[in-house]
Amino acid sequence: MATLVQKFGGTSVGNIELIQLVAKRIAKSRNEGNDLVIVVSAMGNTTNELTNLAKLISNNPPQREMDMLLSTGEQVSIALLSIALNELGISAKSMTGSQVGIVTESSHGKARILEIKTERIKYLLNAGQVVVIAGFQGTSLSSGGTAEITTLGRGGSDTSAVALATAINADACEIYTDVPGVLTTDPRMVPEAQLIPQISCDEMLELASLGAAVLHPRAVEIARNYGVKLIVRSSWDEGKGTTLTSHTQSKISKNGLELNKSVNGAELVEMQAVVGLSHIPDKPGIAADLFEALANGGVNVDLIIQATHEGKSNDITFTVSQKDLDTAKALCKQLLQKQGGELTSQNQMAKLSIRGAGIMGRPGIAAQLFETVSKVGINLRLIATSEVKVSCVIDSKMGQKALRAISDAFELQEKQIEINPQNYYQDEPEVRGIALDLEQTQVSVINVPDIPGTAAKICKALADARISLDTIVQSERKHDNGGRNISFTLNKNDRKNADQALEPILKDWPNAFLKDGNAIARISAVGAGMPETLGTAAKIFRAIANEGINIEMIATSEIRTSCIVAEKDGETALKVVHKFFGLDNKLSH
Ligand code: ASP
Ligand code: MG
Repeated sequence: MATLVQKFGGTSVGNIELIQLVAKRIAKSRNEGNDLVIVVSAMGNTTNELTNLAKLISNNPPQREMDMLLSTGEQVSIALLSIALNELGISAKSMTGSQVGIVTESSHGKARILEIKTERIKYLLNAGQVVVIAGFQGTSLSSGGTAEITTLGRGGSDTSAVALATAINADACEIYTDVPGVLTTDPRMVPEAQLIPQISCDEMLELASLGAAVLHPRAVEIARNYGVKLIVRSSWDEGKGTTLTSHTQSKISKNGLELNKSVNGAELVEMQAVVGLSHIPDKPGIAADLFEALANGGVNVDLIIQATHEGKSNDITFTVSQKDLDTAKALCKQLLQKQGGELTSQNQMAKLSIRGAGIMGRPGIAAQLFETVSKVGINLRLIATSEVKVSCVIDSKMGQKALRAISDAFELQEKQIEINPQNYYQDEPEVRGIALDLEQTQVSVINVPDIPGTAAKICKALADARISLDTIVQSERKHDNGGRNISFTLNKNDRKNADQALEPILKDWPNAFLKDGNAIARISAVGAGMPETLGTAAKIFRAIANEGINIEMIATSEIRTSCIVAEKDGETALKVVHKFFGLDNKLSH
């Protein structure tokens, strides 16, 4: 017998017949002896329909009234499900977020959960009831102490479910949905996509555009922070679905269940070296040749960065551990002899990173990192960003100083700081899943000064305008005046606002200007085993090169390698990389 939180999404309770089917499934689990807290979304398309009703009246309805309106969707489904359960002879009681005491911030429409009162739930469970709770909603205690209805943001029922599981210390949180679980990639593009039986929360977060369709990232964040066992499975069959795992298991802090700090830790990896190749031909296969040669020579590459360039040449920069520098240089020289280009390298570098699930979607955090580092007068040699990690490569002599500045800036405790950490993951696959993102566009700021603070300024200006950057890359090549280019990708919808946000800082840099890249697709391969495996990046580049597709930009983080290609090539690139790693083959899992 276990205590379980089971969440059913909107499509699973889309009509009365489905609600009855779901009730049967719950009844079965209850009759097996489980104590059950059920969380439901609004029926089918209800939340959209309610939103549209309000839009018929106003373009800008008060957020308080929107929460009042949208929260009714879930109130309908909890009552109907509870009626259906009682009809099957299962005692069940429904409760709204306010009745439970799901206490949130007061920001309407996107409130984070601060605390969940458990008395009423526990009382009902002890009395043998199934407790049916409205997802997506909570109650704030406004300054006057008046309770107000809040909602958590679209897709927020997953977050309600995992938060409830954390609060009542459930044995597991099961998310029932209309897909069998988390798949290796988007099955609409790659029908051979397979179910992933097990994945870490870190990997799931790095697969954001793939994972978010299945699970609200905030839910994954909570599961990760509190070590909740989270399972995603189909509402309609007995398939085991996907289990999400995590390493951390922190206690709920006084600052609130969801208000955990965005940055969970910082680390410094010393004894690194940077190798830069510039003016190499911009054609398919170059990156594959280079990283295959390195892998065959036994060199494990960490970060890889390639920026686009005017003209017909490219720059690729990567980091290796210091002991491999001579081998790496020799292998690069061989390649450059064949195809031309220049080689630079630097020893005694360090990689400084911050990590935390809360970095995702909060653009101010990367900006704060870069700003903190620049304030102590340190220049950034390389930048690498991913969904849950931001890293920069700096002079090793400055490493400890930068680490201290960062732990102050992000209020980290001693135990959250690691120097030359060990890798947790052993024997994990090098690539577990691949996401394709077509919502991004690429922009470069050409010819910015190569001095401390430049990247920080760009990120800060965009963050202040609430624009999230994805891949941020600093060019290897310098202009005649010593300036560099900084390229980044951002959501297409934010492109217009970016002009406005960057205008004031561009005024300070007379030689700098913005340049738009072509329409792009980003393919991100993610795997916990990637850092330990030799040659993963080479395989990704080779799979893409085999199709004659040119890679425009490369950006990696520890467990993620992203390639940016022309939009028209995105789907093909996704398919071939997926196949290259055998992810279309059931037996390989
Ligand atoms: N009904 C809400 C929405 O559609 C919450 C949810 O379904 O998770 O966003
Ligand atoms: Mg959902």
